Amino acid sequence: MKCLVTGGVGFIGSHLSDLLLANGHEVICLDDLSTGRLKNIDHLRSNPKFSFIKQDCTIPLSHKFQVDTIFHLASPASPPKYQSMPLETMLANTLGTYYLLELAKSCNAVFVFASTSEIYGDPQEHPQKETYWGHVNPVGERSCYNESKRAGEAFVMTYVRKYGLNARIMRIFNTYGPRMDIDDGRVVTNFIKQIMTDRPLTINGRGEQTRSFCYVSDLVEGIFRIGTYEKIEGEVINLGNPEELTILDLANRLQKITGSREKLVFAALPTDDPVRRRPDIGKAALLLKWNPVISLDVGLRKTLDYFANEV
Ligand code: UDP
Repeated sequence: MKCLVTGGVGFIGSHLSDLLLANGHEVICLDDLSTGRLKNIDHLRSNPKFSFIKQDCTIPLSHKFQVDTIFHLASPASPPKYQSMPLETMLANTLGTYYLLELAKSCNAVFVFASTSEIYGDPQEHPQKETYWGHVNPVGERSCYNESKRAGEAFVMTYVRKYGLNARIMRIFNTYGPRMDIDDGRVVTNFIKQIMTDRPLTINGRGEQTRSFCYVSDLVEGIFRIGTYEKIEGEVINLGNPEELTILDLANRLQKITGSREKLVFAALPTDDPVRRRPDIGKAALLLKWNPVISLDVGLRKTLDYFANEV
């Protein structure tokens, strides 16, 4: 099949492109390079089944464009990045989603929308199931991201209901691995950078807040299944690793693996920082026969190896 991957130069998009190509599919990667880095697709440039278009997803594509499946991943995704590009983030998830849905409708393509665990906000239900509506501050600093992703979901479901579009929504939980941008400000990359440069690890709040981290190869296998399985039209599916740990635990795990003895320094907790986050992945297990297989220790070692060779 011929696939369009928006945000295909990014961390997750480039791994998804690898997997699609490895399965014999064609990939057209669309990216404006606002957060993605070209070196993530260097190895794909000579592949005849791969092409790259440098374009913002909020500019409509030509009418003649014909694809079978659209994976809409384009959007800044780390809290410091999306807060520094709030309008671009909102437009990619609303206007960009609208234009890509129109394209999917005109091509009769499958549409896969990359939503996020952020749509659950600071969840009052734990772990988070797809049926949970969330607890979101609509005017907070994270709202440019979580509210625009919620609007994106509403756009998708409108096309499902109004036009019978074959669309699927995936809610992606925290993901890590090779090709992350070391400067993106997320916790895994911050800690790795701090360990590599012998600086103290920055813990926000008391570090008691929890997250559940999924290794990128597990995640893209789930995305691939969401894009290719039949009979999941209109479904909303969580993708993430249910192993939950505190941010302090994460710091300790990384220190143990690397033998680092850097101090921990504590900073204020950013506003609206979710206290607990863990996916219920029962639906993905049932519909996609999908479960993450890479443990946190193995995934962190692979990620550390990547960054050790990168710099
Ligand atoms: N965090 C931290 N130190 C850092 C960066 C982040 O303690 O240097 C915390 C952050 O406040 C949050 C968690 O780690 O509680 C995960 O943050 P991240 O930005 O990776 O993603 P989020 O899950 O908040 O979108």
